[in-house]
Amino acid sequence: MTKHADPVRIERDLMKLIPQPDWENWSIRIIYHGRAVCMARNPACDRCALADLCPSVDLTKVTPPIVPVRMDEIATTALVELSDRT
Ligand code: SF4
Repeated sequence: MTKHADPVRIERDLMKLIPQPDWENWSIRIIYHGRAVCMARNPACDRCALADLCPSVDLTKVTPPIVPVRMDEIATTALVELSDRT
């Protein structure tokens, strides 16, 4: 989503990608995504909506073709996966 490490540049890049109404809750969506899909010790790349963008994707877990990302589905995916775990 960005190649920058500087927070201001990262923010500018994300602002170009994410619709303005979603800016406020974007960080919580990413947190949910990390809890439900991109777990540190065993990321579920095989069911990750960001797999086609992710430089860390584990291709041994992904069966091509990778489905294109829809940013508005990330929170929904993360929440469904969290509810499946309870
Ligand atoms: S593709 Fe990337 S963001 Fe998605 S689960 Fe794997 S490491 Fe995490």
